[in-house]
Amino acid sequence: MATRVDPKLMLDLEKFGAHDARKCYQCGTCTAVCPHADELWSFPRKPIQTARLGFADRLDQSLEPWLCYYCGDCSERCPRGAEPGEMMMSLRRWLTSRYDITGLSRLFYRSGAAEVLAMVLVGLAAAGGFLAYGLLSGHRLGTYDGPHAFLPWHVIHRFDWSMAGVLTFFLAINSSRMWWWTTGSGPRVKVPLSAYFKKLPLIPLQFFTQSRYAACGRKRSYLVHLGLMLSYVTLFVLIMFFLHRMQSGPAIDWRVHGLGYLAGLGLLVTVIVSLRGRATQAAPLDRRSHESDWIFLVMLLLTALTGFTQHVLHRVGLDVAANVAYVVHLGFVVPLLVLEVPFGKWSHMVYRPLALYLAEVQREALAVRGVPARQPAELPSGIRTPIPSPAAAEPVTAPPAGLP
Ligand code: SF4
Ligand code: SF4
Repeated sequence: MATRVDPKLMLDLEKFGAHDARKCYQCGTCTAVCPHADELWSFPRKPIQTARLGFADRLDQSLEPWLCYYCGDCSERCPRGAEPGEMMMSLRRWLTSRYDITGLSRLFYRSGAAEVLAMVLVGLAAAGGFLAYGLLSGHRLGTYDGPHAFLPWHVIHRFDWSMAGVLTFFLAINSSRMWWWTTGSGPRVKVPLSAYFKKLPLIPLQFFTQSRYAACGRKRSYLVHLGLMLSYVTLFVLIMFFLHRMQSGPAIDWRVHGLGYLAGLGLLVTVIVSLRGRATQAAPLDRRSHESDWIFLVMLLLTALTGFTQHVLHRVGLDVAANVAYVVHLGFVVPLLVLEVPFGKWSHMVYRPLALYLAEVQREALAVRGVPARQPAELPSGIRTPIPSPAAAEPVTAPPAGLP
């Protein structure tokens, strides 16, 4: 199949955060130091070159950006300041927008203002809708729980599950596109069905443990990332399956509220630590922050804070204030879920474990067919030039003549 060349690809990627990748002179140092690159999955040098050549469809077929955890080792060692780690992050944003059929992801990643505006509009619509429901249904603002609550749990429950259905629909479509481009259409090797089954446990394993991230050697970043994800997932499960108990009170039901406090606290602490890291730029992965990183963390913080406020106000018997806080909370949580899960940063909760799974599925398929892992004709980027293996790549300290 002919490779389509997009001469404006690098310009486009700059909008997604890849500001320095043009400085790369392909020395291979980044690939040599990356703890996750190997002969089959060689990065970040190769995807950078693919992008510089304008091979957009080859990037569509690549899983490499998802195999990077942005430890920053490559950026620290790059002799040209090309920020390969940031390039991998930008490629993940770009790929997210390629999988998305609506175009919203592309719009939000290229314009922080558009993302904020969408958040505000969806938030106002959600808060206004719930307020109108409470007022028009004749329920009293001073009643927080029970069948006559201002916002009864069964109404919110139905709304939550409807929203989950819509989000799952979009994520399923986007994930199928990822699968088809990278694996299903067989750009590297035709995959036998047995390989899909054999590697299936990798999805929950990587989702819940992020053990690959642990291999980066950035223990603190790993723990913060894992803590944030697990806290969020715990709250998600509590809200989706135990909302009636979460909303009950004012007595504390420790069976669910205890877990909720732990997860809520975990979310608050990890979000604050992440925001502080980005503000102080102490770790390599925090030195470059895209607008979408800030928007996501601030929305998470506001969601967690308003959730806590609503809960505490109900425990102390201030039900009018608790209901007002509940409406405000829904005004943050709805846009966070509706816009971030399928179209923004939160989507990587699905894409990354899926990509890790597909990468191992392809490795298994190559092994089954007896194809050596390092075979240029099989490499998804389609670039036939030799690719330095981590062991073979030799760091270069000065740019070749003629390069900027
Ligand atoms: S280390 Fe070398 S190959 Fe990697 S981004 Fe920097 S200049 Fe490019
Ligand atoms: S940021 Fe870390 S994991 Fe990602 S490509 Fe660079 S060295 Fe590899």
